[in-house]
Amino acid sequence: MPDQRALLFINASQLVTCAGPPRARRGKEMAEIGILKNSAVAVSDGRIAMIGAASDLRNAYADAEIVDCKGGVLTPGLVDSHTHAVFGKARFEEHEQRAAGLDYMEIANRGGGIHASVRDFRARPEDELYAMAADRLRELASYGTTTVEIKSGYGLTTDDELKALAVIGRLAERQPLRTVATWLGAHEIPHEYRTDSSQREKFIDALVDVQLPKVVEQGVARFADVFCEPGVFTVDETRRILEAARRAGLGLKLHADELKPSGGAELAVQLEATSADHLAAVSHQGMAALAKSDTVATLLPGTMLFLGKSKQGPARELIDQGAAVALATDFNPGTSPTVNFPLIMTLGVSQLRMSLAEALIATTVNGAAALGLAGEIGQIAPGFSADLALFSITDIRELPYWYGARLCVGSWKAGAPCHPYESVTKFHARPPEVVPTG
Ligand SMILES: [Zn+2]
Repeated sequence: MPDQRALLFINASQLVTCAGPPRARRGKEMAEIGILKNSAVAVSDGRIAMIGAASDLRNAYADAEIVDCKGGVLTPGLVDSHTHAVFGKARFEEHEQRAAGLDYMEIANRGGGIHASVRDFRARPEDELYAMAADRLRELASYGTTTVEIKSGYGLTTDDELKALAVIGRLAERQPLRTVATWLGAHEIPHEYRTDSSQREKFIDALVDVQLPKVVEQGVARFADVFCEPGVFTVDETRRILEAARRAGLGLKLHADELKPSGGAELAVQLEATSADHLAAVSHQGMAALAKSDTVATLLPGTMLFLGKSKQGPARELIDQGAAVALATDFNPGTSPTVNFPLIMTLGVSQLRMSLAEALIATTVNGAAALGLAGEIGQIAPGFSADLALFSITDIRELPYWYGARLCVGSWKAGAPCHPYESVTKFHARPPEVVPTG
């Protein structure tokens, strides 16, 4: 956007840059977020041009449009690197069924679970799915997310998977968030391939030989993902699908070790996948392998919370061993129907025992790295895309603290509004706490 007017962000109580090397931060590096005070940010042609004292920047960018941060906190736009945001109906009835003690299989037998989403998805036209997803992306943006990865995976036929990716392609063109599309044709074995055991291999043959080439030809998907979990896809099946995807030019992701350790994390490292996601049941060997690799360990604590599990991904151990950890919402209708990404940071701190800094790096720089975008987004530094989020707080530690609150009052992708800046009177950062005397 070469003709975009320059922007000057002034009056932030904190400018949290997350600036550093353009790659995933690992281990102790995750503790550094770079908090600047009395600093302004100039944006030119959609990129961060300069950071410095407001008076200096006003001189250098005299024609810039001023964005008054009114004492709020300005951060990199949040990067949600794992969602299933293109789906049809909600599945709230399963929430109660789980609370009443029904397990996954019983819910599936009553017509629920992922197959319910698949039936519903197949029946809906693309336009309708697009409209539903666009609304949901607006909600995601309203909490500070400016980049969202979206997976297919509720179609499970070639035509329906292409329909999902086409919806994601339209979202990329028509709505303001940055989107990254992932082909998850191997989300589950669909009902029509469950009639006998030989069907399973036929489904995987069709994925690799028919669906994958069409997905690549369509050109929307950037990554391939497989649900590698006992009862879904085995390690060997996952390897076969992902090796084919890699040969076809896609980046790799895995749903790995969510409920049981099956070697998913180890496979992700062997395949040099960009990320291994879930990991609530990762083995010690899997953790050690991740810590020595460039594969980002993406944890999804909202899912475990919503499913009522007491177990969470081992963020502390992973970081202490030197791994790069990201957090994401896993936004989906079955197991994590939340659009509130800062709430996931809260869970990172409260349940995964991450520091605020680690949780913020996990939702910015490392989210970007989990999408292969660490050189483009995730930090406020000269040359990076001007993807920014403004929150009505005066200290970044408040972001996960006021849990569940919607604190975002504006966000931008490449300098263009994602969540409209509430510029008039609607917000003011909370004044600093009054310290009682005497
Ligand atoms: Zn998922």
